[in-house]
Amino acid sequence: MPIYEFGCKDCGNEFEELVFSRDAVPPCPRCGSMQTEKLMSACASRVQGSGPDPEVLKNLSCGSGGG
Ligand SMILES: [Zn+2]
Repeated sequence: MPIYEFGCKDCGNEFEELVFSRDAVPPCPRCGSMQTEKLMSACASRVQGSGPDPEVLKNLSCGSGGG
């Protein structure tokens, strides 16, 4: 299933969502705004490829989690 990263234009929150349609835009889970845009997630594309080991990926500071 395709996981895309979205950014909220209202509060700046970044989140990931499973989307089944290219036109589907999920609302912001933080503020509920529909003003979200799909982001290019370079990290996700790397993870999907069978390249580096999972242990290596753990050390990469990808995305906007940060605890
Ligand atoms: Zn928001």
